[in-house]
This record gives sequence, C-alpha cells and structure tokens, in this order.
Amino acid sequence: MKVLVTGSAGRVGAFVVRRLIAGGHQVRGFDLRSAGIEDGGFDEVIGAFDDREAAIRACEGTDAVLHLGAFMSWLASDRDKLFRANVEGTRIVLEAAAAAKVGRFVFASSGEVYPENKPEFQPITEDHPKKPLSPYGLTKLLGEELVTFQGRVSSMETVILRFSHTQNASELLDPESFFSGPRFFLRPKIEQQENFGNKAAADLLRAADPGRPALVLTRNEEGRPFRMHITDTRDMAQGVLLALTHQKAAGGIFNLGATEPVDFAQILPVMAQMTGLPLLTVDLPGAGVWYHTSNQRIRETLGFEPDWPIMRMLDEAVAEWTIRQA
Ligand code: NAD
Repeated sequence: MKVLVTGSAGRVGAFVVRRLIAGGHQVRGFDLRSAGIEDGGFDEVIGAFDDREAAIRACEGTDAVLHLGAFMSWLASDRDKLFRANVEGTRIVLEAAAAAKVGRFVFASSGEVYPENKPEFQPITEDHPKKPLSPYGLTKLLGEELVTFQGRVSSMETVILRFSHTQNASELLDPESFFSGPRFFLRPKIEQQENFGNKAAADLLRAADPGRPALVLTRNEEGRPFRMHITDTRDMAQGVLLALTHQKAAGGIFNLGATEPVDFAQILPVMAQMTGLPLLTVDLPGAGVWYHTSNQRIRETLGFEPDWPIMRMLDEAVAEWTIRQA
C-alpha cells in the first residue's frame, strides 16, 4: 500500500511513518518540515496543507491518507493560522485525496470537540454532545464535518479518530516540553499561566516557588487533583494503523486513547521520588481538569489494546531524565 501521512514530522506522524515503513509499505510524508527520514520506502512533500498544488502532489498515487497533521495553539494571536491549517487545510487535503481516488481517509480529531475538560457526563463516549469551547476544538469539529461531507459525496471511506492527549514518554519529565513542561513543572507552569493572562493562577503558583526547580500537583479550588488521559504515542500509532486497515473502521468515529485516566495525585509523588525534585501542591481557581473518556468502542470494534499505561511511560521518562541530568 502507498500511504500519505500528513504531519509526518510531528509526534504521532513520524512514529506512524516508521511503523508503516517497517511493515513494508511505501510512505509519503506531507508537512511544513522534513521528517528527516532516509529510507527507500519514503518520500515527502514539504508544504502547507492549504497549498492546493502541494496537496495534489502529496495525494497523487496514494491508496490511503492518514491526516494526522494540524496546528495546535490556544493563543489568540494564532487564530488565523489555526483555521488556515486545520479547516482550510483539511478541506484542501480532502479534495485532493478524493480527486486522487484515495480509498481511505483517516482524520485525527480531538477530545476537545466535546470538550473533555467540561464534560456533560462521564465517561465521555462518542455520543457526547459536541460543544467545543476553544477555537482549536472548533477547528477539529469543522474538520470532522468536512471529512463526513467528503465521505458522503465521494467513494472514499473515512474514519474519524478523536485523539486523547498524547505524549512521547520522554516528554513527561522534560521541563522544556510543550505540554508536559507546564503541566508538571512549576516554573514553566507559571510562565504558561502568565501567557494565558491567568493572573490569579500565576500569582498562586509564584507564591509556592521554593526558589529551585520543582514539580507541581495541581488541584481545583476545592482541592480535587486533576485527572485526564495521557496516552503514549506508540498506543496512538496502534489505533491509527487499525483505522487504516480494519474493515470495520470504515465510516466510524472512535475515541482513541488510554483506557484509564491519569490521576495527578497518584503520579506526581512518584515523579518527585524518581527525580528527587520537591513537590508542591497548588489549588487553582475554577473547576479544574477531571475527566474520563471511554475507549470501549475502538477496543470492541477494532481490537485496540493499549500497551503503555502511565507507570510504564514513567519508567522510560525517568531513564531519559537521568541521561539529561548526567
Ligand atoms: P505535532 O504538533 O507533533 O505534529 C503536527 C505536525 O503538523 C507538525 O510536524 C507540523 O509541522 C505539521 N503542520 C502544522 N501545520 C501545518 C500546515 N499548515 N501544513 C503542513 N504541516 C503542518 O502533533 P501531534 O501531537 O503529533 O498530533 C497529531 C494530531 O493529533 C494533530 O492533528 C493534533 O491536532 C491531534 N491531537 C493531538 C493531541 C496531543 O496531545 N498531542 C491531542 C488531541 C489531538
């Protein structure tokens, strides 16, 4: 099979490319950046999703498209870029794929379409109402509509995967990492809250600063620790490949992520013990993050079985942490 992977230089895309090449498939990447993969089974188109000429070249001669690339930003200043990449870009890639008579199109959506951090019921199933509260979540919902429309008006099979939050294990204990840095490390979190304009949260966090690098356990204003899914990239790749190949995936919509959510009150003490960093607890204003999303449909329909629970990811994260400290 010749497969186009968009977002081929990204976290999930790059890993999926490698898995496909290892499986003997011909793979083309499509990204703003090179994936840096030197292999006879791989070629790439460097360009933007909303560049029609690049999208046509990318889709030409492919049997399937895994549209995993997107722009992720929650900054107001990135709004136009966000809609160009995720909405207009998705429309143009879809049209190019349909014109190239691609057999299957898999779309990486997000739990932010519900959104997971303000659920109406839990566990969140695929039937949960979709009322995104962030522009990023809205771009993913619009992307889903575009995918469903194209599935209706062309012969292309479509699959929508609503991705869980996803990390490489090595990111969990990296204060520089885009998501895990401000999620678990105090100073990156202060900076993030300042950038978001959340002065009250930034002040509370700053008041807890012990004057040296520290981990932070965030809880809501009533002292309830945050809880959310964090899924390993390798498990996400497994789900993406099932969506690509499984007969029963066609036309489906699936939550894709770890089976159990991560309870921050359980993992932060382990992270502190593993790293020797002090652990502070800060209660932030508001309801906080506390959700559980069901992956039952993808497990029962496609046989998805995640292999990387958080404690296994953490073992790997601490090995990387130790190397970085040396
Ligand atoms: P990533 O940011 O690591 O990779 C995305 C890639 O898309 C990057 O290589 C980037 O260069 C490319 N890209 C962005 N805008 C582009 C454009 N206009 N034209 C061409 N290429 C462009 O993301 P990831 O973590 O691998 O996520 C993969 C998918 O899963 C994305 O669609 C993302 O929205 C979705 N998702 C991710 C998470 C998560 O926690 N990582 C959660 C939910 C959904």
